[in-house]
Amino acid sequence: MAPKHRVVQHFTHNHPLMETNIARDFICDGCETYGSDKTYRCETCDYDLHEYCATCPFTLQNFTHPQHELSLFRQKQSTRQNERVCDICNESVEGLFYRCKLCEFDVHPLCTQLPQHVRHVLHPAHHLEFRLGGASTCMVCHGSCQSWRFRCELCKFDIHTECILAESPSSLASGSSTGRRIFRVLKNVTVGVVCNIIASPITEFLK
Ligand SMILES: [Zn+2]
Ligand SMILES: [Zn+2]
Ligand SMILES: [Zn+2]
Ligand SMILES: [Zn+2]
Ligand SMILES: [Zn+2]
Ligand SMILES: [Zn+2]
Ligand SMILES: [Zn+2]
Repeated sequence: MAPKHRVVQHFTHNHPLMETNIARDFICDGCETYGSDKTYRCETCDYDLHEYCATCPFTLQNFTHPQHELSLFRQKQSTRQNERVCDICNESVEGLFYRCKLCEFDVHPLCTQLPQHVRHVLHPAHHLEFRLGGASTCMVCHGSCQSWRFRCELCKFDIHTECILAESPSSLASGSSTGRRIFRVLKNVTVGVVCNIIASPITEFLK
């Protein structure tokens, strides 16, 4: 018997999208950022969606903006007038994104799926919380931290989001040149579980 693949009928596309594992990166036609490995795909049209973009709800309560509900928006094409950036990662937001109209808070669908707490090998004593903060220094790359980061408030210990999630220092370097958000390692994150990841690439890096 052939393996079962999930099929999604998504409002952004006329044809059903089939769960597909592809051994390469793709650009999600929903949120227009990169993904890898698993896509919901229309082969005929070469149309891909991240798993989360294919299944995310129209409204969302999220810890990154607890005061209001977020709504899913779709913006066909950005012009200079309507260019938006994600309030979490500061990269441009096109296509599908969540927004709080009241606060003009915009966020990539996948940026809402970052874990709220992680434990990291460089700071095993306490968990790090994903939060907004002032200027400081990332303890992995020693670059400056400006906005959202993983932080131990007790010890004032900060790590960039990308430095928590990066597979290796080289993938960080190639990521920054594309100008698009890369969500390649989010597949390793179990949503909703506290203290759920240890950044294993960093462990290897330290060996
Ligand atoms: Zn997407
Ligand atoms: Zn199609
Ligand atoms: Zn983002
Ligand atoms: Zn709001
Ligand atoms: Zn925790
Ligand atoms: Zn860093
Ligand atoms: Zn601490």
